[in-house]
Amino acid sequence: MIIKGGILYHNGRFLKSDISVVNGSIVNISKDIAGDETLDASGLVIIPGFVNTHTHNAMTLLRGVGDDMPLQEWLSEKIWPLEANLTYRDCYWGNMLGIVEMIKTGTTCFNDMYFFMDSLIEAVKDAGIRASLCHGLIDLFDEEKRDKDLKEAKRIHDLCRGEELISFCMGPHAPYTCSKELLLAVKEYAYENDIRVHIHLSETCKEYEDSMREHGMSPTEYMNSLSLLDENIMLAHCVHLSDNDIDIISRTGANVLHCPCSNLKLSSGIARVPEMVRSSINVSLGTDGASSNNGLDMQSEMKTMALLHKLGSPTNLPASTSFDIATINGAKALGLKCGAIEVGNLADLVFIDLDHYSMRPCHNIISNIVYSLRPGAIRHVMVNGSMVMEDRELTFIDEQEVYEKAEAQASRLVGRAG
Ligand SMILES: [Zn+2]
Repeated sequence: MIIKGGILYHNGRFLKSDISVVNGSIVNISKDIAGDETLDASGLVIIPGFVNTHTHNAMTLLRGVGDDMPLQEWLSEKIWPLEANLTYRDCYWGNMLGIVEMIKTGTTCFNDMYFFMDSLIEAVKDAGIRASLCHGLIDLFDEEKRDKDLKEAKRIHDLCRGEELISFCMGPHAPYTCSKELLLAVKEYAYENDIRVHIHLSETCKEYEDSMREHGMSPTEYMNSLSLLDENIMLAHCVHLSDNDIDIISRTGANVLHCPCSNLKLSSGIARVPEMVRSSINVSLGTDGASSNNGLDMQSEMKTMALLHKLGSPTNLPASTSFDIATINGAKALGLKCGAIEVGNLADLVFIDLDHYSMRPCHNIISNIVYSLRPGAIRHVMVNGSMVMEDRELTFIDEQEVYEKAEAQASRLVGRAG
């Protein structure tokens, strides 16, 4: 397919050019490419799709349950009792609801950790979006649970093999819910299979202080003492980091998945993102689950991040840096060839209407995208060279069916959990 006449973001600037897409990848970017199958993109800005690097997608089903509560109370009184009653069908429709929101807000790839991950594989294949996924491993220091969780992770890994849109990683939940034995088993499996590791780290002050008390080390130092930190690991949150922690993450090349809305909503704190960026740490962006956000809209997440870190100085995180954090840095964290419009990269693209109110006037396209873009300006979304949304209509998903089924599953779930 030849995408003709769009204004695309390429090498840090916008230029008018055509894009040739073959077998899901970008094979040529230049002016006046000829071809039979064309897509008229005149009047549209083309950007790489957003990469949401930390989600628990099926939690869209729990959106709005127990807001405005402290983290531990929220988890033990609201979230865990509901999660204990989840079924495969709940998760499938929760995943579909999340995917609808992601596509409509310009996300083309997400990195998920949850349970019933076969339901996510089914949803991703039905919807045509790209995902990296892991089964959340929580052994709570119990050997039997550890073996059961590892077995499930390997089963899910086998289901992902050969899937074009799906990559698999290992997902130990956090150092305070996983034994040292589990973390070491994860490291070995990830190394042998050349896959990535996705973990929550240093999310709350309590986690940091508990780790100091128990190990005499911060959560980051503890992970480093187990040789788990390298460029293949993705660390969600990293809200509480010492100077030494930042130095360790920078030296090891570990990736940080920043979730500003969730950190604000749960009052976890503000991650030291400008300092991390200055220390050359690869910081990417995630929404976390919809129950602690409460949405999966990456543009809104990006804007919140940009504004939050301007509390120190308005020069912190210029628009292009915020945009990179929401796109190319996410692709780097995941080890995927997306997040930038380049020859050889996957054709995961978002087409934005310049005539939408949120894009007018257009003195500076990147600043409009970071600070004013609204989802209504997104006209088409392409993943792997296929249009998953065309003229604001989802291609492979019956949107109304998703809303009805997801709401029915959500009320049944609440009923079962009493
Ligand atoms: Zn999380």
